[in-house]
Amino acid sequence: MAAFQAPRGTQDILPEDQPYWRHLRERIVHLCSLYGYEPIDTPTFEDTALFARSIGEGTDIVEKEMYTFEDKGGNSLTLRPEMTASVVRAYLEHGMHTLIRPVKVYSFGSIFRYDRPQAGRYREFHQFNLEAIGEADPGVDVEIIQVAWHLLSSLGFRGIELQLNSIGCPQCHPSYVERLVEYYGQHHEALCGDCQRRLERNPLRLLDCKNPRCQPLIEDAPRSSSYLDDSCQEHFDAVRHGLEMLEVPHALNHRLVRGLDYYTRTVFEMWAEGIGAQSAVCGGGRYDGLAEELGGKPTPGIGFALGMERTILAMRKQGLVAPSPLRPPVFLATLGPEARDAGLKLAHALRKEGIGVRSSFGRRGLKAQLRQANKFGASYALIMGDAELQVNKVVVRALARGEQEEVPMAEVASWLRQRLN
Ligand code: AMP
Repeated sequence: MAAFQAPRGTQDILPEDQPYWRHLRERIVHLCSLYGYEPIDTPTFEDTALFARSIGEGTDIVEKEMYTFEDKGGNSLTLRPEMTASVVRAYLEHGMHTLIRPVKVYSFGSIFRYDRPQAGRYREFHQFNLEAIGEADPGVDVEIIQVAWHLLSSLGFRGIELQLNSIGCPQCHPSYVERLVEYYGQHHEALCGDCQRRLERNPLRLLDCKNPRCQPLIEDAPRSSSYLDDSCQEHFDAVRHGLEMLEVPHALNHRLVRGLDYYTRTVFEMWAEGIGAQSAVCGGGRYDGLAEELGGKPTPGIGFALGMERTILAMRKQGLVAPSPLRPPVFLATLGPEARDAGLKLAHALRKEGIGVRSSFGRRGLKAQLRQANKFGASYALIMGDAELQVNKVVVRALARGEQEEVPMAEVASWLRQRLN
């Protein structure tokens, strides 16, 4: 066993895994450009208070899962446990309200949560995060959900489920929570230990409990969507109408409340078939009060985050293949020191022309070098030895067919380009 291993809950993303990552990232970037979302990057760590304030003191993330540390200057910093707070912070800090709204941005990055690791759940993982800030129109909710749906369906997923709910706004939400607390108060004895604590600290989380003994209580619990005020109801109806127009099927899920304090109105998740307990590949919702909570002017917003690892896990489980790795189509085999020098120059010239070349190193014989060329999946091997050098030619071998011919050095690039295109 190696002396060191990656820390618990982290993973190496090896070259063999990378085609999935590249494929997923490329699809995302392409879709974002189709819908008019632009990239934004924020720091990997922020002031701890930013997360405590936005996500909420009573939440699992803030209470138990943050990687918080003091830097050498005595500042309390936290590795980001999600991205929305950072993006809204950046929006406020840079006066982005002056841009055309909604301001539509996306990011990729590492997320850190001190969670109990298992398949599909890690301590460092990666999210694609999408936000639309500055517009309350339910059409934005529809578009955000549409992007997630479009992405997963264009990747070829089967059995995607959109889970949807509305948790209301600061006007109607408190009366719902009050009703929920009252209901659970009547069943205090029947609750699991965790839920007894949740009832005190974060009652919405009661609906999230996985303990079998709490399931019947959750089924009969009051539903947030029954407590919406008129404007929240109208908003929710408009979102559902938009989804129907787009023929995006959705399930109303009254248990879906999301664990963060900042959510208002629309909340949703996408579930993918085949990855077991951790079936949510993405989740998000509206956060109309967040900017104000962070000291800005009232600014509506909505977004979601998609777990990259979990999406790739689901792609693999569903047998969705990623394109093959990007590898140079040409392998350069040289025999002898003079050929090596000439090969160095030729490879450089080809790469400048945009033709990928992998050079051989060491002092292997021709057979061994061609074996390598095959292993790397090259289409052509360039073979340079003293005899070829003398006449200023290169042997070009089409590896699959095993045919070869001599090509003048000056014509190698155009010869290859014709065939590679
Ligand atoms: P959340 O911010 O918890 O709603 O997470 C959004 C998405 O990130 C989820 O749907 C998952 O795909 C992914 N995710 C959340 N937590 C983890 C984790 N601990 N490990 C891997 N992926 C995660």
